[in-house]
Amino acid sequence: MADALETRRGTLPVPTFLPDATRAGVRGTSSEDLRQVGIEALVVNAFHLLRRPGARVVQAAGGIHRFMDWNGPILSDSGGFQVWSLIRQDPNRGVIRDNEVIFREPETGEKWNLTPERIINLQFQLGSDIVVCLDDCTDADAPEPEQERSVERTVRWARRCREEFDRQVAQRRGEAPRIFAVVQGGGVESLRRQCAEELAAIGFDGYGFGGWPLAADSTLLADPLRWVADALPAAAPKHALGIGRADHVVSAFALGYSSFDSALPTRDARHGRLYVFKPGWAARRPSPGDDFFGAIRIHDPEYRVDHGPIEDGCDCPLCTRHSRAYLHHQFKVGDASAERLATLHNLRFYVRLFANLRGSAA
Ligand SMILES: [Zn+2]
Repeated sequence: MADALETRRGTLPVPTFLPDATRAGVRGTSSEDLRQVGIEALVVNAFHLLRRPGARVVQAAGGIHRFMDWNGPILSDSGGFQVWSLIRQDPNRGVIRDNEVIFREPETGEKWNLTPERIINLQFQLGSDIVVCLDDCTDADAPEPEQERSVERTVRWARRCREEFDRQVAQRRGEAPRIFAVVQGGGVESLRRQCAEELAAIGFDGYGFGGWPLAADSTLLADPLRWVADALPAAAPKHALGIGRADHVVSAFALGYSSFDSALPTRDARHGRLYVFKPGWAARRPSPGDDFFGAIRIHDPEYRVDHGPIEDGCDCPLCTRHSRAYLHHQFKVGDASAERLATLHNLRFYVRLFANLRGSAA
């Protein structure tokens, strides 16, 4: 595994967790909040930012870091997965072709023509520290010919992304961002390995595990994760895109993945699902299969008069000042601070988990 993830805005110790600030913000929180709970880096989504507010708005603000007041490293996901999901839900929204993706805004009819080059340019316009190649997603259980086509397109697009990236770097001053490619291949071992090897032969600074990472019963697709990690250079940073459940993180970390992003902890928090470690969990590093955490549903009536913290020993802004009863009440009355405090607790849970996995203090 890579020892650390180097970026032009600092070195991230690994494993590292990057919350999803998809549309240039982690909902309900400020940058100061995020720094306070120990978050070091964020993920934004290039495709969603292209749609709103538009690359020019971000560029005119001085780049994504100034726009959202975040001076730490930012990884921009290309949006390959999101555009594929949106088109899959509603084929009228667009089409994915061999050379481009066409996407139509359902409300305005505005049309986006996304090419590998355009997506790389966009991420340079944003000023991202880690740019991600456009990939062609499929379902893990899609027929094999579809998986083959996805791998073929993903590798071809990655090559075009790499060439455009090199062109952009040559034209600009200052330290270059890094570029990650995304490995597809669904649930087919030979395709996963082939995709990883072909991308590694082109050469990238890191590699993402692409496609939906969970089986229908929500278990982690550990075999595909292992094939990809095995086929990539041992020292290359490996990013587990969208892998976020704490036990899944532990499993993917054991397989060699060093960076993670997920909307799960912040989304769960907004829905009143707060994570708690089991007593004594920190005595050792969690291993795959360990039962080291649970969650409480703060909306449940039992918390109305529970005056203890969400978790004993948690040093987040919620647990150090407020009780379960207070958070229950704030959710009940619809106060916006409830979502903020719950989000900061769940993020602090991740910071503490990742510090344990690194063998350091949170
Ligand atoms: Zn807490």
